[in-house]
Amino acid sequence: MSAGAPVVAWHTQEVGAVSEQLQVSVERGLDSADAAARLATDGPNVLAEAKPRSLAALIGHQFKSLVVALLVLAGGVALLMGDEIEAVAILVVIVLNAVIGFVTEWKASDAINALRRQFTPVALVRRDGREHQVPASTLVVGDVVLLAAGDRIAADGRIVEVARLRVDESALTGESSAATKSIEPVADADAPLGDRRDMVYMGTAITEGRGVSVVTATGARTEVGRIGSLIDEVVDTGTPLESKLAQLSRALLVVVLVLCVVIVVMGLWRGNALLPMIEVGTSLAIAAVPEGLLAVTTMTLAIGMQRMARMNALVRRLPAVESLGGTTVICTDKTGTLTRNEMTVQSLVVASRRVDVTGVGYAAVGGFEVDGAPLDVAASDAAGESLRLALRIGALCNDASLGGGAAGLTVLGDPTEGALIVAAAKAGLDHATLKRDYPRLTEVPFDSVVKRMVTVHRTPGGQVVAYVKGSPAALLHASTTIVTPEGTVELTPARNRAVRDTNEVLAGEALRVLGLAYRELAPGYTQDDLTSSLTFLGCVAMIDPLRAEAKATIATCRAAGIRTVMITGDQQVTAAEIARQLGIDVDLEGRPLRTVHARELAGLDEEGWNAAVTGAAVFARVSPEHKLRIVGALQRQGAIVAMTGDGVNDAPALRQADIGIAMGIRGTEVAKEAADMIITDDNFATIVRAVEQGRIIVQNILRFIHYLFSCNFSEILVVFTSIMLGWPLPLSVLQILWLNLVTDIFPAMALALEPSAADVMQRPPRDPAAPLMTPGFGWLIVWQGALMAACTLLAFGAGLRGHGHEGEGLRQAVTIAFMTLALAEVLHAFNVRSRTRSIFSAETLTNGWLWGATLLCVALQLAAVEIPGLRRVLGTAPLTLEDWGVIVAAAVAPVAVVELVKWGQRWRAAVPPESAPHMRRAI
Ligand code: ADP
Ligand code: MG
Repeated sequence: MSAGAPVVAWHTQEVGAVSEQLQVSVERGLDSADAAARLATDGPNVLAEAKPRSLAALIGHQFKSLVVALLVLAGGVALLMGDEIEAVAILVVIVLNAVIGFVTEWKASDAINALRRQFTPVALVRRDGREHQVPASTLVVGDVVLLAAGDRIAADGRIVEVARLRVDESALTGESSAATKSIEPVADADAPLGDRRDMVYMGTAITEGRGVSVVTATGARTEVGRIGSLIDEVVDTGTPLESKLAQLSRALLVVVLVLCVVIVVMGLWRGNALLPMIEVGTSLAIAAVPEGLLAVTTMTLAIGMQRMARMNALVRRLPAVESLGGTTVICTDKTGTLTRNEMTVQSLVVASRRVDVTGVGYAAVGGFEVDGAPLDVAASDAAGESLRLALRIGALCNDASLGGGAAGLTVLGDPTEGALIVAAAKAGLDHATLKRDYPRLTEVPFDSVVKRMVTVHRTPGGQVVAYVKGSPAALLHASTTIVTPEGTVELTPARNRAVRDTNEVLAGEALRVLGLAYRELAPGYTQDDLTSSLTFLGCVAMIDPLRAEAKATIATCRAAGIRTVMITGDQQVTAAEIARQLGIDVDLEGRPLRTVHARELAGLDEEGWNAAVTGAAVFARVSPEHKLRIVGALQRQGAIVAMTGDGVNDAPALRQADIGIAMGIRGTEVAKEAADMIITDDNFATIVRAVEQGRIIVQNILRFIHYLFSCNFSEILVVFTSIMLGWPLPLSVLQILWLNLVTDIFPAMALALEPSAADVMQRPPRDPAAPLMTPGFGWLIVWQGALMAACTLLAFGAGLRGHGHEGEGLRQAVTIAFMTLALAEVLHAFNVRSRTRSIFSAETLTNGWLWGATLLCVALQLAAVEIPGLRRVLGTAPLTLEDWGVIVAAAVAPVAVVELVKWGQRWRAAVPPESAPHMRRAI
């Protein structure tokens, strides 16, 4: 099919004609060799992507900033004053500044692109007679694709098999209600897309049911490809954090520009010449503009995302990183997230007899016991018959399959169903044989709202039967008779009660319980017959072990001030028992919490919902719609909610949550698209690790804001005070630029890479809505900046006294001030790492980057005075041993003072810093 081939009206053709023309057998699918050949001729199944920002644009962008304008101004003034060396040096600084800006931005966009590439949609195809999961980009025309609820259709296709398939085509047709599909051809060749009921189109989503399609067009030749629209942009760029930063930067800029004008005016008033004052004013403005802030922030977020990706947490939207750190409630699934989702059938209760099943895992090794005595499953009595029927229903009313070799060690599909296949195999009922002897005629797929599934089969005897499995309550409700040791009898309220009691006992053992039922169908049966007048056969109970780390992770959440709420479709009793085992049944203060059954939620008003979410640790038997309401109620109470989901119906709740988390393994494509984050191992512990990373990242951003702002403030203060005191200028223009654009950068970046603080998960979450600059934080920046400035001025004063106010002596004094400030700033980075803990702790050694940055900065500073060329440009002079003594003393002094203050605070708080509650405000 080349791009120029005429478009075939596939929707008008019969199923047989389609597969014939596309040269594929629906039963076998394409041969992989054939698929590979088709892929080579047709090209990958992808839509054109938005062009990334070009290199030239990125470079150009670096020269369009305020700092560059200021630098040009400074350079111009230098030229006017006849100082060519300085003008050239400023030019170099402009280039250097652009290079650093470029590298940070490049790194950030690179990281984001890498993340974007991780979201490869997949499709389930039939090739070589087997089912495979393949990247959607490798689909070719003729591929047989298996469709299930929650899938995003990956390529246009003609439907060849359906079971209640409904598709949301609003993306393509604008029609908001889901379209019901069939395999019947549509006569009108020009029928609008919305009327082609036998076709599925790329980009639309399956809301219900199951089906099979044969691909008719891929990539740019699909309907959406021809419209040229793009599907869903994955990663946003502007984040709330960044806009808060931009705001902060703007506010700061105004303050700084005013200050600079004041400095220039004061300088002139003090009798300094105009041009040098303009130059100093400009360079101070450059010093104070928080240029790199946004770039470093984006880079920090992006690097954080990469770090999270290595921990199995794929963040889809950058803002999620910040809100993650602020999470106060995690609403999590039970099955597969807190538990391993490795189901094993433990017991069956059929015709009032409890039969235990031995053996673990998916290997068909094990047997059946009653009260500890082995049972002959082949027994030809009525009890044996019923047991075999139960196992048969379990294995046939089933869409899973076992793979991974003879031992059958892996499940393809739902583990709940896999466990039933294994249980049947333990009784010698082979899945493939059963499927061949009892062909499936039609079905009602599983749905988490009605919580049951029906399949219709023809028995070897020619009978047509409906096999049903699902929640015991749902099945009891649909049944009128029940199998007992005395035969099939009416399902009286007493017998109903007895089944419910059995169910409670099993569920109380934390087992997942499913009911089994059946009905023999007469010819001409209706859809309603499949779910009414059933015969209830019994229950099957399976164990799903807790994940090893689940309990410890829940304890971590507690320490971190995060509440865990378990939301499950499973039964109340099972869920309550698991909650107890995990220790989530008490609140952060140790008060007991309830397990709420969904029926209590019916018809609740806002008040009622508020009360329900306040007192509950578990919501059982919930439907996806409840999830949405739970998130809403929690949010009304001011919570930052992370919510997990996997099904197509979970998408609204995932969107509503502050952090929607989709399951990577169990999750449907639609859920993944709605989510802010995907956890690739479906593990609760991964969510909590991601929260921790979110906290670290926000903390690091605050760290380098603290650092950069206090350093810049100290520079401004040093110059301002000198002018006010009538002293000579303590720093030359190029020295100011050097400090800002060379030495400050490295410690700031190193702070952005802080690995962690041991106690991030031992304090309450930071409110993401809180402003970055709180009064406390601002004060910290001001006094620490002032402290460095004071020490620098003292050193400068000593230099002036020792070496004089003129010529070479002044150069020496200026050099002392320059060196003092540079070293004080580098050391200040260690102050900034923690606001409470001493720098003399084991943690001081953990950030290798910072040590590297320190060494680099010290080396650069030494070069600034020791290399004659640099000395000339920067206007420094060689120093005496005595000068060095002054410098070191003055540079170390701020660290000593900050240490004393921290010590005093710790002493006053009189609690170990690790658990200091006042950290909520401090961080
Ligand atoms: P969860 O994932 O929270 O455990 P589900 O929505 O998957 O909840 O399941 C809810 C209930 O639906 C289960 O307790 C069980 O009774 C029933 N159920 C689950 N899976 C199936 C299935 N494949 N077929 C029939 N019924 C099922
Ligand atoms: Mg489930």
